[in-house]
Amino acid sequence: CGIVGYIGEKDSADVLLDELGKLEYRGYDSAGIAVFEQGKIKIVKAKGHLSELKKKLEKTGTPRGVCGIGHTRWATHGGPSDVNAHPHAAPNVTIVHNGIIENYLQLKEMLKGQGYDFVSDTDTEVMAKLIDYSYHGDPLKAIAAALGHARGSYALGILFADFPERIYAVRKDSPLIVGAGQGENFIASDIPAILKYTRHYYLLDENEIAEITMQGVTFHTLSGETVEKEEQTAAFDI
Ligand code: GLU
Repeated sequence: CGIVGYIGEKDSADVLLDELGKLEYRGYDSAGIAVFEQGKIKIVKAKGHLSELKKKLEKTGTPRGVCGIGHTRWATHGGPSDVNAHPHAAPNVTIVHNGIIENYLQLKEMLKGQGYDFVSDTDTEVMAKLIDYSYHGDPLKAIAAALGHARGSYALGILFADFPERIYAVRKDSPLIVGAGQGENFIASDIPAILKYTRHYYLLDENEIAEITMQGVTFHTLSGETVEKEEQTAAFDI
């Protein structure tokens, strides 16, 4: 299972599919991507091998844009299917997730009471809708508030409909790094996914939120403080 993300001048779908290919060794049962195309998030996802996703993209047309996230899924909650594949969406929020949200059933009941409908069996869709429910215009506050209610493990890549040129990332007990390029930036579960593009990256500490644009990355604690981080350089060659 794995998470990737790209923001930069290249075609994001191409980069996401390339990055996902580099994470295949981690194992998965379905795959998907979400890309901002002309300001609107387009999601394409499919059960099976990455080649199934590519076939589907040929049929639906590949969404073209400069910002997107991608996922390979190892199902824990809800069997492998197109609907349970990630990304998962709520009106303002689209996410990819590795890990397990332990209290997702209670959260799902609470969110149903607030008028949310659910289409999948996943814990991840609950997380997407919990962040959406917590969103009042400030993505960092929404993520922090939602994580305050969620128990479990997560690496999350998050898009907000209002911010078509930003990716948010946060992790706890699941791996996630932020890759730093020239006018382009990345997220990935592991370094090999980004090595073709950059050797520079940041390690995300537990519950640190990264706010990623084309120009740069800022890091924030859940309570809203900015964190200064040291860039790492991968020592091994491509
Ligand atoms: N728990 C989530 C699901 O079953 C994420 C699984 C994963 O880590 O790929 O959809």
